[in-house]
Amino acid sequence: MKGQVSSLYVHIPFCASKCYYCDFNSYVSTSDVMDRYLDGLDRELEAVSSAYEHLPLQTVFFGGGTPTIFDARQSERMMAMLHRHFRMADGVEISVEANPGTVDLEKLQVLKDGGVNRLSFGVQSFDNDLLVKLGRLHDRDAVYRSWELARQAGFGSINLDLMFGLPGQTVETLQSTLRALIDLGPEHVSAYSLKVEEGTPFYTWYERGKLILPHEDEEVLMYQLVMDSFRASGYEMYEISNYAKPGHRSRHNQVYWRNEPYMATGSGAHGYVNSVRYVNQKDVPQYIETTVGGERPVVETEEISDVMQREDTMILGLRLLEGVTFERFREKHGQDMLDVFAKPIRKYEQRGLLTVDDVGVRLTEQGIFLANEVYAAFLGDE
Ligand code: SF4
Repeated sequence: MKGQVSSLYVHIPFCASKCYYCDFNSYVSTSDVMDRYLDGLDRELEAVSSAYEHLPLQTVFFGGGTPTIFDARQSERMMAMLHRHFRMADGVEISVEANPGTVDLEKLQVLKDGGVNRLSFGVQSFDNDLLVKLGRLHDRDAVYRSWELARQAGFGSINLDLMFGLPGQTVETLQSTLRALIDLGPEHVSAYSLKVEEGTPFYTWYERGKLILPHEDEEVLMYQLVMDSFRASGYEMYEISNYAKPGHRSRHNQVYWRNEPYMATGSGAHGYVNSVRYVNQKDVPQYIETTVGGERPVVETEEISDVMQREDTMILGLRLLEGVTFERFREKHGQDMLDVFAKPIRKYEQRGLLTVDDVGVRLTEQGIFLANEVYAAFLGDE
């Protein structure tokens, strides 16, 4: 992987309760454990900062879990340790994931003063019955209250996460959520369909026939409705699940989709630096013990071969609607994309799922719906 790293992910693995569909690395815990986690994170940030030759940070993302579960004092500490160990580039994007109902003005102000300039709320739906079915703690009113507080604190770039394909959801009920969401006017929206993941209550209920999900055809209609609604309301669909008002694309997530390097800290976090992917210890007590003891908590490393890097560039890059440009591919891999991937590109071009021009390769409107099939064609085909 060429190019120095200038992005950082920080994982905060705590939530107020566990949503029924969630397989993320997150736990319900006490404030005392959170303090000790911050002790460990402080040491890990220091170690990561000196382990890699990095540039001043262009993007930082605090994800979870629910980073805003920290109180104002802990949030202040979290921001202070970031600035103690890393320099920020001018215009750095610092994002924090939040859940409706977990923010107050004091905490938001602390984050803002610490340089956070982008908030991402896990709203998921404006339908209170659906939110209960998902095991979410918030309701529609909590979304409005948290939104007001965020604006009051001066946040001008807010993402709202949305889910569709939910149990009992119909195209009509999704439509009213979309209307409510668009009325609020967030600068960015991420909209994903529900995936039932093993090890979650949803998985157990699904296996027992107790979780009735919309039919596949209805889910396609929902996806189409999501795309149409945002595009008609001044949002650019720039990635297969992401929509932004002009100037508000997530710069951090584009680092992932462009297959660029990033450092990662926190329990269970995955990083990618110098062509090596690494994974941190997931278990929170173990993570704390290792990091407080002055060791890095890395439990797995994998050297990514040139072949895999080229595949990743295509698979991740085709998620972006601008696709992968010939120039970017050549700069990154020193080869022509069409020399490496002529076969899958031509095959899916003929099927009308990819389009190729002088600039590069991207999904067609039809390809967006069959994206997973297209990505798979780039694996092991060189
Ligand atoms: S808030 Fe997010 S991370 Fe936490 S349990 Fe729910 S889905 Fe998982």
